[in-house]
Amino acid sequence: MSVLSCTDLSVAIAARPVLSGVDLTLSAGQVTAVVGPNGAGKSTLLACLGGLRTPTTGFASLGETRLLDLPPRERAQRLAFLPQTPEIAWAVEARTLIELGRIPFTGARGLSVEDRAAVDRAMAAAHVEAFEHRIVDTLSGGERARVLIARALAGEPEWLLADEPLTGLDPAHQLDAADLFRDLASKGAGVVVTLHDLSLALRTADRVIVLADGGVLSDGPPASALTPDILRRAYGVEAAVTSGPGGPLIDVLGRS
Ligand code: ADP
Ligand code: MG
Repeated sequence: MSVLSCTDLSVAIAARPVLSGVDLTLSAGQVTAVVGPNGAGKSTLLACLGGLRTPTTGFASLGETRLLDLPPRERAQRLAFLPQTPEIAWAVEARTLIELGRIPFTGARGLSVEDRAAVDRAMAAAHVEAFEHRIVDTLSGGERARVLIARALAGEPEWLLADEPLTGLDPAHQLDAADLFRDLASKGAGVVVTLHDLSLALRTADRVIVLADGGVLSDGPPASALTPDILRRAYGVEAAVTSGPGGPLIDVLGRS
């Protein structure tokens, strides 16, 4: 089973420590949610785990290989990264954008029948078939977010790292995307997502990592990683973990 890890990983930006000495071992077959307050370093951690940012010290590895030593093409085949604020450079049709997710496999050649089939599967999984021929900058933010999820899935990656993929989706599509992540994990992929919705993290993740002040404040099964005490220390809020008809809920009562 594939393992993605980081060892003594620190990042300083403009001489300010953003992450300090983070050690994590993530297993495929699970959905891992990374939560924490604004500025905690979630996006920075994800970028390091995706091999897109060079840490100041320490390293991230896929199996035994340091990510920055993996040939870029192999890295792109094995790890898909969905950024928080993706830039779409040109006005292209949604399908064309999703097909870009096959580039790590196709290189400069055109798409094979197999590539097209993978694109079709990704479009079906992300429920974006209806937008196939729409120009992406005419899509709503949530529709575009689903197209970008489809692009990440088109490469059928071993690991999907997605930075706030549910933000901007309506409740039905949030559930669909969360189900999709679960489904990928159940098929053996590793899924790492950053989330702001703590109840969603509690309900949909196998493992929750709470980042605060550049370090891991808690890490474990959702119910033990997201306790009122941890939420107070991470966010400075008083919160109650309650049970609703649909499962556990985090009710934020106010600032500490
Ligand atoms: P999160 O995703 O948890 O909100 P980030 O990883 O985006 O946090 O950022 C962590 C910290 O690093 C923040 O304080 C942010 O302002 C800072 N930071 C990130 N990128 C830059 C940058 N390019 N220049 C300066 N500061 C940055
Ligand atoms: Mg972020």
